[in-house]
Amino acid sequence: MATSKRDYYEVLAIKKEASQDEVKKAFRELAKKWHPDRNPDNKKEAEEKFKEIAEAYAVLSDEQKRKAYDQFGHAGMQGMGGADFSGVSVEDIFASFFGGAGGGRGGSIFDDLFGGAGGDGRYGSAQGASLRYEMEIDLEESAKGVTKTIEIARDELCETCNGSGAKPGTKPTECNYCRGNGYVARSQGFFTMKTACPRCGGRGETVESPCGTCRGSGRKRKKIRLEVPIPAGIESGTRIRLAGQGEPGEEGAPRGDLYVFVRVREHEYFLRRGRDLLIEMPIAFTMAALGGDIEVPTLDGRVKLPVPKATQSGQLLRLRGLGMPDVHGYGKGDLFVRVVVETPTKLNAEQEELLRKLAALEKVNVKPHSQKSFIDKLKDFFHDE
Ligand SMILES: [Zn+2]
Ligand SMILES: [Zn+2]
Repeated sequence: MATSKRDYYEVLAIKKEASQDEVKKAFRELAKKWHPDRNPDNKKEAEEKFKEIAEAYAVLSDEQKRKAYDQFGHAGMQGMGGADFSGVSVEDIFASFFGGAGGGRGGSIFDDLFGGAGGDGRYGSAQGASLRYEMEIDLEESAKGVTKTIEIARDELCETCNGSGAKPGTKPTECNYCRGNGYVARSQGFFTMKTACPRCGGRGETVESPCGTCRGSGRKRKKIRLEVPIPAGIESGTRIRLAGQGEPGEEGAPRGDLYVFVRVREHEYFLRRGRDLLIEMPIAFTMAALGGDIEVPTLDGRVKLPVPKATQSGQLLRLRGLGMPDVHGYGKGDLFVRVVVETPTKLNAEQEELLRKLAALEKVNVKPHSQKSFIDKLKDFFHDE
């Protein structure tokens, strides 16, 4: 493949005497232009271009490799652990250049790097960390929707130094360990891995006289209040994303997000299954036999439910549209009422007499009047066997 390789300076469209800053600038501009995400119509070509640019940059940004290349051309790269990205994904190339701080974010690394970071492009100008908040709400709140005010602790830019970390009247100076790059490079196989500068932590600058308020960090931990809108019908375990409400990003990069995990408390009476609710209602056995109306609690107050004649214990009766609202607004679920027929525990003489008449009519062999002892019952039990 060495035969078809273009000249690295030509690839980056820079002069042989270009400074490191110019190399970097040229790379950033071209990488921006040819990133496959920005060229959805000719992804394949863009990817090839992008790799070519990355390869040229990998060599020309490294003084040793650049020297070897200047002397011997592409041949000089053999055995240098040079740069061949032909079998490597664009994402991996990005990760090797920029540290791959991409974990689980919305946009691509590319967007964070060039889009949000204000183009200054220092290493580590990544989106801020995301935050997590756990919240519990009642079933009633889930049914109606609610706005909850929460308090979280997160970093805000220090007001005294405006986030620079430098004492007012002074300025941060270029880090002399990484010469303002924010990263240090070390070779690892094919790649030159770049990691955040240990002295300045990737910011590219150090602070000589730190701000007294934030002790140079540029940040201040603060408690802030936020309103979280909870949609009606939300189910337990749902995650609500509040974009841009996480920790601040580096160097003006966007904030991370805040994820609110909502748990819906179990209700004392209602059992929820998706959009439907279930409640158990005891009914008298006479009502089960003869039918009648009962009052059932719902999330909107009581409603009357007709119990049909000859209802069996455990039977489900349905109240349409009295369940939970659909979280996307597609109507409401139902309320199911499971009726449990209660056997009377205390009968007065008249009631008992009526029941005995009923039993006689049905030819049910009921126990005689007197209460038997537990031992007698056991005897009966074994006798029946
Ligand atoms: Zn400060
Ligand atoms: Zn540094």
